[in-house]
Amino acid sequence: MTKVMRAFHGVFMWLLLVGAAATPGLSQDAPKPPRADSAESLYLQLRGVGLDKSRVYRVREVSVNRAAIHITLEDGVIGFTEDVMGRVTGAFFEGEGEILLTPPDQVERASMALFTGATILEERFLTAYFRFNDSTYAELLPQLKPADNAQEFALQWNQTSHNLAEGDALRLLMSFSQYLPASGRAATESRGLSNTAGNSADEDHFLHVRLQGRKLGVFDAYFDSNSSEQVWAGQLKAVESESYYNVWTSFSLPRSGRHSDVLNSTTGEEGKADSVDISNFKIISDVKPPSRIDAEALLQMQVHQGGRRAVLFELSRSLTIKQVEADGNPVEFIHNPAIEGTQMARRGNDLVAVIFPQPLQTGQRIQLRFVYGGEVLSAVGPGLLYVGDRGTWYPNRGLAMSNFDLEFHYPPGWTLVATGKRVGTDTDGLDMSGGAAGSQVSRWVSERPIPVAGFNLGKYRHAVAHAGEVTVTAYATTGVEQGFPEPKNQAVIPNSPVVGGTPQAIMITPTSPSPARNAQMVADRSARAIEFYSRHFGPYPYHELSLTQMPGNISQGWPGLIFLSSLSFLSDEEKTDLRMTPVQKTFVSELVGHETAHQWWGDSVLWTSYRDQWISEALANYSSLMLLESEDPVQFHAVMDKYRADLLEKNKDGARLMEDGAVTLGLRLSCSQFPSGYEAISYGRGTWLLHMLRYMLRDAESKERGKGTSVEGSQSADELFMRGLRHIWERYQGKPIGTRELLQAFEQELPRSLWYEGRKSLDWFYEGWVNGTAIPRFELRGIKYSDKPGSTTVSGTILQKDAPNDLVTPVPLYTTRAGKMVLLGRVFTDGPETPFHVVAPAGTRRVVLDPDQTLLTRVR
Ligand SMILES: [Zn+2]
Repeated sequence: MTKVMRAFHGVFMWLLLVGAAATPGLSQDAPKPPRADSAESLYLQLRGVGLDKSRVYRVREVSVNRAAIHITLEDGVIGFTEDVMGRVTGAFFEGEGEILLTPPDQVERASMALFTGATILEERFLTAYFRFNDSTYAELLPQLKPADNAQEFALQWNQTSHNLAEGDALRLLMSFSQYLPASGRAATESRGLSNTAGNSADEDHFLHVRLQGRKLGVFDAYFDSNSSEQVWAGQLKAVESESYYNVWTSFSLPRSGRHSDVLNSTTGEEGKADSVDISNFKIISDVKPPSRIDAEALLQMQVHQGGRRAVLFELSRSLTIKQVEADGNPVEFIHNPAIEGTQMARRGNDLVAVIFPQPLQTGQRIQLRFVYGGEVLSAVGPGLLYVGDRGTWYPNRGLAMSNFDLEFHYPPGWTLVATGKRVGTDTDGLDMSGGAAGSQVSRWVSERPIPVAGFNLGKYRHAVAHAGEVTVTAYATTGVEQGFPEPKNQAVIPNSPVVGGTPQAIMITPTSPSPARNAQMVADRSARAIEFYSRHFGPYPYHELSLTQMPGNISQGWPGLIFLSSLSFLSDEEKTDLRMTPVQKTFVSELVGHETAHQWWGDSVLWTSYRDQWISEALANYSSLMLLESEDPVQFHAVMDKYRADLLEKNKDGARLMEDGAVTLGLRLSCSQFPSGYEAISYGRGTWLLHMLRYMLRDAESKERGKGTSVEGSQSADELFMRGLRHIWERYQGKPIGTRELLQAFEQELPRSLWYEGRKSLDWFYEGWVNGTAIPRFELRGIKYSDKPGSTTVSGTILQKDAPNDLVTPVPLYTTRAGKMVLLGRVFTDGPETPFHVVAPAGTRRVVLDPDQTLLTRVR
C-alpha cells in the first residue's frame, strides 16, 4: 500500500541529455550560417513549421535507415516542411509503408513483446511524420518525383504537421542554436571555436518518426546520436486519467556499429559524457506559505567539452523564470513543456534551455544566475505543506554531486528544515523583498557535495534522538493532511474478567492521529537504523539527520533530510484504527529504515543510468529489512512473502506483474499495463535478489568454515555479504555504481562453491536473475540413497519449472539431523532437469529443497 518514490531521481537520460555531448561544428557541407535574430525566434519557427506545397513528391520503394530502424515508404506521397534557417527539418508521408526494428537482446525483446505482442517491431503504417536535424531531405530528394496533387496534399496535412512540430523543437534547437549569429564577441571568433571543438557536423544526427500503425495505433521511433541510448521506440497511452509513455524498447549501439547507416566515423564520443557540470549552487529563496516561492539561484558551471551554445535544465512547470544571466549579462532561455506521459512530465517538470551568446569553450567557467518564482508548494493540512508536489524547485541537471548553499526567508511561526548543515538562524529585520518585517532567515550549507537539495517547512513540533555523534530530529505537525484515511470505530471484546454473563463487545472511538505525538518514536527508529548501518556498511556521512512529515503515502530521502509519509508517524494503535494488517503496519514503519538507508544508498552511492536505479531502492530496502530480521524474523518473512505475492499478482488482462520486465528496466517498468511496476519490481524483486545473494554467500561461507577455514565471531555468518557492501560504500561514495559493478563487489571474494562452470563470476546471476523475470519452481524426483561406510550418497534430479531453460540457480539441499535442518550443499540447476548426487551423513533418508525460502521461487 505504501508507495515510495524518489521523484527527482527518475530522469530518463535520453530526454535530459539530449544534445549533451557531441556537438557539431561547421564543416564544408553544412549550410551557411542562417539568419535568425534570436534563439526564441528560431525555437518558435521550429515548433510551428508547416508543409511547403512546392515540396510534395510521389514516393515509391524508398528506404530510411538509421541503425536498427528500417523504414520503407512503399507507395505514397511525401511533403516536406518549410525551411527553418535554410534547412528542411520535417516531412509528412501518406500511403503504404513498413517499419522494422529488432531489439538487440532478451530484455529488450521481452519489453517489445509486452507492449506489441511480438519480440520484433514489424508494422505496416498509413502515415508517418518525420523530424530530423540532418541531410535526410537531400538524401531522399533524388529518389522522388513531383506529385500531381501537391496543393491538396499540403492543405490536407499542413495542420497535422504543424501540430507535430512542437514535440522536437527543443531537440532541434540544441542542434541549430549552433548557427545563430554570435552576440557579444565577433562571429568569426565563434566560428573558430567551433572548428577547434574537433567534431564534424555529421556527428549530430536526430530522427523522430511518428507513425500511424495499422495494428498498433500511433507510436514513435527515435534515433539520436547524442543520446546515451541512441535508438528507442514507444507510445503514449492513457489509462483512466493518467498518461504513460510506454517505452517499448531503448538501447545503445555497439561502439563499432554506432551511426553505421549515417556516418563513416566510429570515433564519436560516448553520448552520455556530460559536457558541463555545476559545482556550486547558491540559492536564496523567499518562501511564502502556503504556496509561493521567489528565488534567485547562482550556479557555477564548468564546461568539460566546448562547442555548444545551449545547455538544458529541468525545472518545475509551476515556476516562471524572469531572467537568466551568464557572468552578469542577460542570456536567452526557452522554457519548453516536457513530453506528455514521460517521467519528467509526471514529476511536474519542464525543460529549460539556456542559450549562450557564443559557443562554450572547453575549460570555461561561467556563473549563471536564475531569477524565478511561482507556486510550487501546496497546503494540505494545518501547518502542513507539500513541498515536492510540483516538481523541482531549482534549475537542476539531474543527479550530479555539487555543493549547495541555501538561504531561506520565511514568516514567523514556521519551522524550515533543509539539506546541509544549518549555519545560522535569525530574524530578518530588514526583509529583502517586501515580506513582513520579523520574518525568519536560515542558511544551510552542504557538508560535502550532494546530488540534490531540498527543504520542507511546517508548523512542526520536534523530537531528538542520538546515534553516536549524529543528531536525529523528527519534525511533525499535530494533525494529518486532508484526505487522510479516517480511523474506524472498532468493536473490541475486553479481555478483563466479565462478571455475570458473556463478555460484551464495546465500541472504541479512536482519537485523531497526531504525528507530532509520535515524533520521538520516529527519531528513535531512525537513530537505531543509523547505528546498525554505520556498524555494517560504514559511517553515516553527515552530522545530522532530519525527518519531516510529508503528506500522502510518498516518502523521499534527501541527503541529511527525509520526507516521511504521515503514515509512518502513526503509533501501532493508530495503525490498528486504520485497519492495517500486520504486514501493512510493517511496511509503513520500515519506511523509516528505508529512507534512512538512502543516506548510504542513493544519496551517497548514486546509480549510473536508469538501468541501475534499482540498486539504490533494493539496497535501501534490504538494509532496512536486515535490521527488521534481526529483531523480528517472523515479520521479515511476512514482508518477503508479500513481495513475492505482489510479483505473482495478475493484472486485469491476466498478465502477472513479474512479466513487466527485469529490474534493469528501471522507471520504464511504470507503464500503462503495470502502473506500479517500478515499485513492485525494483523494490520487491530487487530485495529478493539481494536476499538470494546474501544467503548464497552465507551458505558458501559456512560450508568453507566446515572444511576448517577459521572464521571468528558469531556475527560472521554474513561476513562476505557485508564485506561486499562495505567495499561498495568505500569505493563508490559520491560516485555512481552500475549493476555489473555491484556484482563485481561480491565476485571479488566469491567462494569456490559458487563458481559456476569453474568461473569466479556472477554472470549467471546477472543474466538469469538480474536481467530475467522468472520466479521458478523446483521439485525433486527419483531420489535414491546408497549407504557407504560412514556416509550416504543421495542422488536424484531437480526439476525446474516456470523458467527459461538457461536459468542457472544454486539450489540449497538440506536434510534433517536430530530435528535440525542441515545444509548438504547447493546444486547448480541449469535447464528443466538437473541430475545430482551429494554425499550426506550416514543413514540420511530425507532431503528437502530450500526449506528457509532463500530463493525467489513459487512455493507450491
Ligand atoms: Zn527508496
